[in-house]
Amino acid sequence: MMSWIKKLETNTPNVWVQWVRAYILRGVNFWDFCLTAAHSWFWSNIINCRDALIQIADTIDHAKNLLCKPDYKQQIYELLRQKGSVLPMYKTVGDSLNYPKHKIIGLLAIQNKLPTLDNLSRRGLQLANKCVLCESHSECAPHLFFECFFSAVVWCTVAQWLAVPPLTSMNAISMWYKGHNRGKSLVKRQRRCLLLCSIYQIWNERNRSVFKGVKTPPASLIWKIQYLVTLRLSHIVE
Ligand SMILES: [Zn+2]
Repeated sequence: MMSWIKKLETNTPNVWVQWVRAYILRGVNFWDFCLTAAHSWFWSNIINCRDALIQIADTIDHAKNLLCKPDYKQQIYELLRQKGSVLPMYKTVGDSLNYPKHKIIGLLAIQNKLPTLDNLSRRGLQLANKCVLCESHSECAPHLFFECFFSAVVWCTVAQWLAVPPLTSMNAISMWYKGHNRGKSLVKRQRRCLLLCSIYQIWNERNRSVFKGVKTPPASLIWKIQYLVTLRLSHIVE
């Protein structure tokens, strides 16, 4: 996604860039563009990625500067790692067993840097704040990832797989991780992959509901998490 944002920012002579400027942006500055439910899944991901980049870089100008550098992906990842040095999970998020997009979303979720509705309202965007998964509570990271009935079902199953007490907050995950999951053994790497995959899939489910109006039962999401982790592990073991 970052490479597409870089193409837009540097105005790369490219058919896709010209199409986006003509039919999506229509004269609006990319950095000020607001999503609506009518936008595609791909474009929604680009805008979410843009918001995540601004969070990482602190300012839009710094985000633009980063994108102009030849090694911008490495610099962005290093910035993520530096910002996350306070919690133990950060040190191993970069594990090659983890899916790349799970690493980015996992790091942002742990730091409460994802563009949840409460974070967007703090940035001055006036939006109705209601959790799209349960439609009965305002959306903030603790609710979305743990308190919502949907996420609670997912974490309850994950905790059963891991044979640990229910994981009810980012801090609980961090403490469990600190106590039991540091190290390079395959079992520990697989557990960490499972944690990041669960965080990512909950966030992805929220985005699918917001931008596409599609809802998945928790049981289907749990199956997907199990499948993705098993698939990743099979590639490493082969
Ligand atoms: Zn909810």
